[in-house]
Amino acid sequence: MIRFEQVSVTYGDAAAPAVQGVDLTVPEGELCLLVGPSGVGKSTVLNAVCGLVPHFTGGTLHGRVTVDGRDTRTHRPRELADVVGTVGQDPLAHFVTDTVEDELAYGMESLGLAPDVMRRRVEETLDLLGLAGLRDRALTTLSGGQMQRVAIGSVLTTHPKVLVLDEPTSALDPAAAEEVLSVLQRLVHDLGTTVLLAEHRLERVIQYADQVILLPAPGAPPVMGSPSEIMAISPVHPPVVALGRLAQWSPLPLTVRDARRRAAPLRDHLRDRTPPPAGRPEPAPGPG
Ligand code: ADP
Ligand code: MG
Repeated sequence: MIRFEQVSVTYGDAAAPAVQGVDLTVPEGELCLLVGPSGVGKSTVLNAVCGLVPHFTGGTLHGRVTVDGRDTRTHRPRELADVVGTVGQDPLAHFVTDTVEDELAYGMESLGLAPDVMRRRVEETLDLLGLAGLRDRALTTLSGGQMQRVAIGSVLTTHPKVLVLDEPTSALDPAAAEEVLSVLQRLVHDLGTTVLLAEHRLERVIQYADQVILLPAPGAPPVMGSPSEIMAISPVHPPVVALGRLAQWSPLPLTVRDARRRAAPLRDHLRDRTPPPAGRPEPAPGPG
């Protein structure tokens, strides 16, 4: 559904490409998580999918990016809007209308759909995202999780096959993040939407991912694999993965619940040991 062929992106007169050697395929209907340390090029990869790179950011793209067969070199972001929906970290910065219902309708306006089709799609989307009770609310009065659901809804009304999200839960509290992730999961399972998601709060999303793409370091080509394969080698990983690596558990636990089920033998093994005197703790793996 999303295909990168030997892609590199170099911004302005930067000495080196921001990303290079990107050669991968995200299959239809999967939730694919993009991870890596800060500054490694995650947003660059996402923006290459919706065409913002290079059409809006400038810079040079070598290789080829296609989404549902459309080459982003020859299709500008607007010509991809019916295939790719894009959601960022701060929905309020991108809202163009004042109320929930208007915001959902706005996304379709450029498509020239008949009014009754637009009406129906707004209703569908309100229901799908659990927003029907909020339809008349002013956007500024919504909670963070509600705003993010409206942002997702506003790109869903065009029925895109692909949804690209750049750190959609980073600014949210855990409950709101959960709200957004369960919506994404429903889209993948019920509608077969392909989701490509960058997130540095991995503990929130790793258990939902079908596959993970790791950008290990600036300029290094990406590595793609199952969540536990990639978590075994990723410099950014949730604390529960750090524990699993230390205890040499295989496959690695991806959730606290997984870890708890594996922990009994470790607990027995450590029972008669005395913890070393408190010293400097190991530096925790920081967020990307
Ligand atoms: P990430 O999302 O992983 O933090 P980015 O894709 O934002 O990484 O950035 C990758 C590199 O490209 C960084 O060195 C960043 O400074 C640079 N960069 C990102 N966007 C632009 C831009 N529009 N113009 C110039 N340089 C950019
Ligand atoms: Mg980024």
